This record gives sequence, structure tokens and C-alpha cells, in this order.
Amino acid sequence: MKLYYYCSSCKKENSFNTKASNRFELQEERGNHINDRCNHCGTQVKRRVNRVHAKPDIKIVSIGLLLGIISTIFLWNLGWIATLTFSIPILAFSYASQQANNFNKVMVDDK
Ligand SMILES: [Zn+2]
Repeated sequence: MKLYYYCSSCKKENSFNTKASNRFELQEERGNHINDRCNHCGTQVKRRVNRVHAKPDIKIVSIGLLLGIISTIFLWNLGWIATLTFSIPILAFSYASQQANNFNKVMVDDK
């Protein structure tokens, strides 16, 4: 999933990709701190794992939207298109926000 943190110097948001789906896994992967160079100002940023946050994955939401549109086109003649058109993107969005919430609500202690 994609995770975000703010640069301590320019306050802009940076993101990085990880296999971790919660802070415990992130801590396993990166240690107590994220050490990265800010994409905006180049400052070396050290951020605690607890300061890193997740957002609903826009990719999952877009795929949901796309599937909703595709199913609308292909199932135009069937009666239940409206249900699919709206429910697939909504399901995709709630899945993506759930994933982000699960990440954000669990804090870790330093190892
Ligand atoms: Zn910066």
C-alpha cells in the first residue's frame, strides 16, 4: 500500500510504497523511523512509524469506478445495471478506506 508522511522542513507530503499493511509490518520493514529524502526539498527526513499515515488507495477506487462503468456498458440491457454501476465503486471505496483506517488506528511502540 501507499503511505504518506510530512516533510519536517518544507511540510509537504511525501509518499512511498510498502508491502506492509499495518504499522507493525512497517516497523519490521523500516525500523522505528522512516529515513527518506524529501521529494520536494531534498532534506533528509526522519519520521516515526507512528507519524506515517495511510489514505484510501486511489488505485482500488479507480478500478472500482472502471468496473462499474464496464459493467454498465456490458449489462446495459439487463435490469440491474444501476445497482452495479453504483455498488462496485462504493464497495471499492469502502474497502480502500477500511484498509487505510486499519493502518491509521494501530500505533506501535519503539523496539
Ligand atoms: Zn521537504
